[in-house]
Amino acid sequence: MAATDTHCPYCALQCGMTLDQDDAGTWTVSGRDFPTNKGGLCRKGFTAAALLTAPDRLTTPLIRDHKGGDLRPATWDEALDLIAARILAIQAQHGRDAIGVFGGGGLTNEKAYLLGKFARVGLGTANIDYNGRYCMSSGAAAGIRGFGVDRGLPFPIADIAGADAVLLVGANPAETMPPIMQYFDAMRARGGTLIVADPRRTPTAEAADLHLQLTPGSDAALGLGLLNVAIRDGLIDQAYIDARTTGFAEVRRIATQWWPDRTERATGVPATDIVRAAHLLGEAAAAMMLTARGPEQQSRGTDNVSAFLNLALALGQVGRASSGWGCITGQGNGQGGREMGQKADQLPGYRRLSDPADRAAVAAVWGVDADSLPAAGLSASEMLGALGKADGVHALMVFASNIAVSAPDTIALARRLAALKLFVVADIFLSETAALADVVLPIAQWAEEDGTMTNLEGRVIRRRRAAPPPAGVGSDLAIMTGIADRLGRPIATDTAIEGLFAEMGRATSGAAADYQGIDYGRIDAEQGVFWPCPDAAHPGTPRLFSERFAFPDGRARFVAVHPMGPAETPDATYPLWLTTGRLMGHYQSGAQTRRVPELADAEPEGFVSVHPETARTLGIAHGELVDVTTRRGTARLPARYSRKIRLDTLFVPFHWGGVGNANRLTSNTALDPVSRMPEFKVAAARLSPIPPHEQPDFLQQGNQP
Ligand code: SF4
Repeated sequence: MAATDTHCPYCALQCGMTLDQDDAGTWTVSGRDFPTNKGGLCRKGFTAAALLTAPDRLTTPLIRDHKGGDLRPATWDEALDLIAARILAIQAQHGRDAIGVFGGGGLTNEKAYLLGKFARVGLGTANIDYNGRYCMSSGAAAGIRGFGVDRGLPFPIADIAGADAVLLVGANPAETMPPIMQYFDAMRARGGTLIVADPRRTPTAEAADLHLQLTPGSDAALGLGLLNVAIRDGLIDQAYIDARTTGFAEVRRIATQWWPDRTERATGVPATDIVRAAHLLGEAAAAMMLTARGPEQQSRGTDNVSAFLNLALALGQVGRASSGWGCITGQGNGQGGREMGQKADQLPGYRRLSDPADRAAVAAVWGVDADSLPAAGLSASEMLGALGKADGVHALMVFASNIAVSAPDTIALARRLAALKLFVVADIFLSETAALADVVLPIAQWAEEDGTMTNLEGRVIRRRRAAPPPAGVGSDLAIMTGIADRLGRPIATDTAIEGLFAEMGRATSGAAADYQGIDYGRIDAEQGVFWPCPDAAHPGTPRLFSERFAFPDGRARFVAVHPMGPAETPDATYPLWLTTGRLMGHYQSGAQTRRVPELADAEPEGFVSVHPETARTLGIAHGELVDVTTRRGTARLPARYSRKIRLDTLFVPFHWGGVGNANRLTSNTALDPVSRMPEFKVAAARLSPIPPHEQPDFLQQGNQP
């Protein structure tokens, strides 16, 4: 079989790779010389082909005839007929918005686009959102209110290598996105400085010149403290502020109150390090601030990010090469998914459901009356919180997302999912979420489909089919059109993939994320095309804001933020901070990577990382099974000693379900007021030993505490 040039199925770096299969059917993956990864892949990418031969692949629709019963095989017609009939009945009783749609951050642009159209035209519901809400939505919200548009990185990642100083806030790319480290390494080899702000001494922090080991939830205070020093010591660029921004006076007034000693008390970062970091950034010819999930996945995530975006503006660093602020998107197509209309308040191209002109533009492409389009719907957490409520959502359709593991407060979520009148999951495996569904629909995966993705830089790239899906497997596109047809509300569309891409381009024409000038031929010839690209003659836009920001007056907006801290802080009952995150060998909920033997063998289970001094005060030995408890519930995990974590902080990776699931501990109600991001990164927690008879594995190994 001919080798296929495509991209990795996992994170937003979307490394270029080549897939090949020999005559015996064995797949090989090799890194491809693409502008982002330059031939590099991480362990997840190198082992991704194992997904194509995973033994537990779903190959037939499954139906559960009654709650509590077992799933049984069904035909496609039977499954789609049942879904359509139940949707009609539920909408007749509860209204159209009683159907919720939850998309995945790994769906191609074409699927994400059609999912938005399916929800708003086929189902007629306002309630569609996606798990990208749980990824970079605070970064997106901060970008919109500061720059007027949301593109994770407003510059190519190659810019990182040309910076003179980079501040990474709550990002651990050395573990989560290793090939990107070549740009940080190149930056440092040129004499540049890497500063990392993170509560843990991660591999990225260890590689840095300066590690600011802040208290969880104190990110905005750190940003203000850095700005305080920059103002005090004459490091800001007043000419840039005057010419290209508005709103600095209030931000300046607040920042002057965050002198280094006060910032040290709020963040735990020594004042001398705050001053040093501010000077490294303020004296650099090209300085860059990059945020990721650490500051973003908090109930004040948008403010946290704005604090660093303000700093980049005050230093006069935005809009020039190798400088500025960016958000390191995590999910494979988290960027494209929100551009294409999966988000509750957005139509394709970032058009707004609240804007009559935007509604009319998309309605014209869709061939419907603009008044027939629903209003903005519930965000992901609010939609999941409304499941089963009298005036809430009574049927949920999930496309390629493992919410039973990855959504916050999974104990309460499982109860709400059980109360649904219809729960449909389309996925490639019987994930923890699919196992709870009334109807399961098997779909094609990554290397079995064509389409496009948009990486963390806003570069639109091709995903290419290397093999047909197994017999019995369907496509998300056919599921959406099949259900819409059965409902009598067809979503007239060309499901031939390039035709769908062309329709998508028309729907985004003239919008902020304009794809109209992009086609598959250009993507192939140019190694991806950066949006906005309004027509075929346009070269695409690798770097934004060189001349103006995306507001009518062309000026960026400083946004005044007051550090509010997280929704809950340690107290006598829950005396420790808890933070959650990823490991090198797994991706998101682990639904895919836990099925790759090499990755599963390397990290077979979750754990709680705890400083040995903290553990010893509680009488907890390394390897001992312990309970981690928050106000939501308890997770039972082995304790893993680490001197790289603060004495007052615990860390639990979120790649596993069951009793060790990290999201048994996180809150679904502490939401950011702008981005509606839940507080994944911070909770108050208690760590407790459990009785010896409840930890047989530990005792069998002779590891007495
Ligand atoms: Fe690249 Fe991310 Fe895939 Fe690793 S997981 S190979 S960093 S795209």
